[in-house]
Amino acid sequence: MDMPRAVVIGSGIGGLTAALALHRSGWQVTVLERAESLEPVGAGIGLAPNAQRALDVVGLGDEIRSLAAWQGEGGMRAPSGRWLSRTDATAAAERFGGPLVLLHRSVLIDRIAARLPAYAVRTGCPGRLIDPGTAGGAPAVVATPAGTIAAELVVGADGIHSAVRTALFPDAPGPTYAGFTTWRVVVPAPDRPFPPHETWGRGALWGTQPLKDGRIYAYAAATASAGARAEDEKAELLRRFGDWHDPVPQIIAATAPEGILHNDVYRMDRPLPAFHRGRAVLAGDSAHAMAPTLGQGGNQAIEDGIVLAHHVAAGRDLGAGLAAYTADRLPRTAAVVRKADRVSRLMSLSSTPAVAVRDFLMSTVSRLGPGLVLRTFDGIADWCPPGDTYAAGTTTEAPGTRR
Ligand SMILES: Cc1cc2nc3c(=O)[nH]c(=O)nc-3n(C[C@H](O)[C@H](O)[C@H](O)COP(=O)(O)OP(=O)(O)OC[C@H]3O[C@@H](n4cnc5c(N)ncnc54)[C@H](O)[C@@H]3O)c2cc1C
Repeated sequence: MDMPRAVVIGSGIGGLTAALALHRSGWQVTVLERAESLEPVGAGIGLAPNAQRALDVVGLGDEIRSLAAWQGEGGMRAPSGRWLSRTDATAAAERFGGPLVLLHRSVLIDRIAARLPAYAVRTGCPGRLIDPGTAGGAPAVVATPAGTIAAELVVGADGIHSAVRTALFPDAPGPTYAGFTTWRVVVPAPDRPFPPHETWGRGALWGTQPLKDGRIYAYAAATASAGARAEDEKAELLRRFGDWHDPVPQIIAATAPEGILHNDVYRMDRPLPAFHRGRAVLAGDSAHAMAPTLGQGGNQAIEDGIVLAHHVAAGRDLGAGLAAYTADRLPRTAAVVRKADRVSRLMSLSSTPAVAVRDFLMSTVSRLGPGLVLRTFDGIADWCPPGDTYAAGTTTEAPGTRR
């Protein structure tokens, strides 16, 4: 019997994960990427145990864990360097069945793409959904520069400003500005070792985390007007963060101005009515863009791909499968979007009294029990994928962890 055909629009983390999971579930997959190559932005990505378990389903979990640095032997600080909350990797592993890990995005993209058939990914090839296949048994249709493709399934994984989303739900509100902007850099490690940290100031934060290849991934956020840009981004980072504790000034000093990624944060604070229509379905930021304050946007995109492939495995009823996907994913991701917004609001506090109360509560709560960072991930990082990999008694555990 011919394999059913799926077209995935977008080859970010969400699109590639969906493509790999569908390929393993019996679909013939074509991924369309408008960029000329799969080179992702030069930044790190944190993967919590929920995404690692999702990657286990496609046989990638252990490989990714082995290429990543463990996060956790650090915690949250104030700009003076005072610790507000300590976290350790063992506690994270015990609470969630595995550690939080950090790796370069290119490693993740390369490893997922390497598991797809060579012919599956077409770069330099934008896709446009022209028919979601809502009429009876008619296929969905995607236009590309090389002609149209008819498919049993189309996955819109085309990111936050998704054209597939607009085509499926033209009346749904799009993403809105979260009130803050972000910077990301990858730099060589400073001379002196430092504990990984995320430091919260007045309407601003800075995080510094080691990658396994010896480099450092640092990210910063600050409340700002949408679209505001300084002429000299490095000078702007120095102005905002240059007097924060070590190693923040050293990281800024080591930063090449052309290596600074600067993105305003948009998120979908109002959920879509559904994640599918006809034979077309959304995954990743196109479905549920969220603020990065929980580091879960990519994690949820990975979950999406795995859950989608589970519900629409070749041979199953597609309509019922897509409805089950929406039923599984929409409430979960909407809750994560809301939680990320709550953390964004805390991060955005800027008046001296409000920040003092926030910092006092953070350190008090952390002294009384497990680190605040860990508690924030309850209900998120403990997620298990559907299907056999994590069915009772068949759990694949990360080395050295317990569930
Ligand atoms: C500062 C910051 C830090 C973050 N940190 C983390 C973190 O630590 N952990 C985490 O999980 N998440 C993090 N995120 C969120 C994460 O980056 C996103 O949620 C994730 O990359 C979304 O993946 P995606 O595949 O859905 O979309 P994208 O990565 O945006 O990919 C969409 C792809 O679709 C392509 N495309 C668009 N239109 C078309 C078209 N018409 N035809 C063909 N291709 C098209 C684009 O070129 C792109 O390659 C962070 C975000 C920010 C801003």
